[in-house]
Amino acid sequence: MAPVPISISEARTRVLLCARPLGREIVAVDQALDRVLAQDVCPAADVPPFPSSAMDGYALKAGAAGRPLLVVGESRAGAPFAGELRSGEAIRISTGAAVPWDAEAVIRQEDVDAEEHVIVTKVGLATGANIRRAGEDMPAGAVVLAAGMPVRAPELGVAVAAGVAELLVARRPTVAVICTGDELRAPGEPLGPGQIHNSNAPMLVALASHSGAIALPAQRLADDRAATEASLVVALERADVVVVSGGVSVGPHDHVKAALADLDVRERFWRVALQPGGPTWFGERDGRLVFGLPGNPVSAFVTFSLFARPALAALQGAQAEPALDSEAQLGVAVARDRTRERALRVRLERHSGATLAVPNGPQGSHILTSLAGADALALIPPGEGELAAGTTIMLEHLPR
Ligand code: AMP
Ligand code: MG
Repeated sequence: MAPVPISISEARTRVLLCARPLGREIVAVDQALDRVLAQDVCPAADVPPFPSSAMDGYALKAGAAGRPLLVVGESRAGAPFAGELRSGEAIRISTGAAVPWDAEAVIRQEDVDAEEHVIVTKVGLATGANIRRAGEDMPAGAVVLAAGMPVRAPELGVAVAAGVAELLVARRPTVAVICTGDELRAPGEPLGPGQIHNSNAPMLVALASHSGAIALPAQRLADDRAATEASLVVALERADVVVVSGGVSVGPHDHVKAALADLDVRERFWRVALQPGGPTWFGERDGRLVFGLPGNPVSAFVTFSLFARPALAALQGAQAEPALDSEAQLGVAVARDRTRERALRVRLERHSGATLAVPNGPQGSHILTSLAGADALALIPPGEGELAAGTTIMLEHLPR
């Protein structure tokens, strides 16, 4: 009896149950971009480390406008003033320079009348004016980055400002991509009768890399039982995650499921109530995950995005994302599928304050062009008839 297809959310739950964090390693900060943090970052000392000037001007005591002050020294960035500041005196100061401990405020240079060694204040100043307090950005010991955060450009800046030179990050999962199909040819190769180019290989490798994984070069495989099994044996040795495209269905030349069963990869689901991407298989052996994705290019892309991408994030200990990451309003009415959720390739457009999801072209599972330039997948719940324009739907954003 054919299995009853499960929902997207049930399928994701089953994937995430099998995806435990892989391990950690220390890397230099400048190697940490796009890795997932496996530690909290807490500065040992305050950041900024000392009270500093927010302006080019003069450090002085707080007080009223109209004060004449004798300029007795200078504090420059990297070269603090070492002497004493008394009332009636001021110190020339640059942005970012240390404010002398006995100064109470900084006056902007635009707010004084300056002569050679004397200035006259044109405005009154409260204690603390134009001074950046020590620890104002990061107090010593505070958690400024948390384990599970992806490291992007801002996190690199925060880590270095916090005094860190190395970061403990999650190990990157290794992904083996296997594309099955006698009809597949390499990029640019002339096509014989019935042949097509292997467009899934570069897409799946790119999606894996984009998810923080190390993608091994994609393998192309004939529709042959022995070759399928041999290739899976090697992939299961080398990779944490194996992604197979095509050959997973029930045709006479589909060998993937039977080969995986022989290799003791335990099935966790087969078939999702999803369009495109229904014939999707997922299993696990000793913590290694195997995705059997449908061969149609859009189905392969959609199912990787919905199921493999969250698994790769979880293997890296990434903070759990909401199942689907945001919502929008449907820009036009769309037909529903009676029993399956539809994953529509959409553009997101802003119209008078609302985010509208507009189909990015025809939605057949072989139509790759409507994937190009799509911002997100819009999930259309199953049901009769159409879903009206303006209905709120959930989105799965696509990597750029
Ligand atoms: P399958 O899942 O093997 O039955 O394949 C379904 C459809 O996807 C067929 O039209 C295949 O030719 C096509 N297909 C399978 N693998 C690829 C691939 N790697 N690149 C592009 N199209 C593919
Ligand atoms: Mg095939």
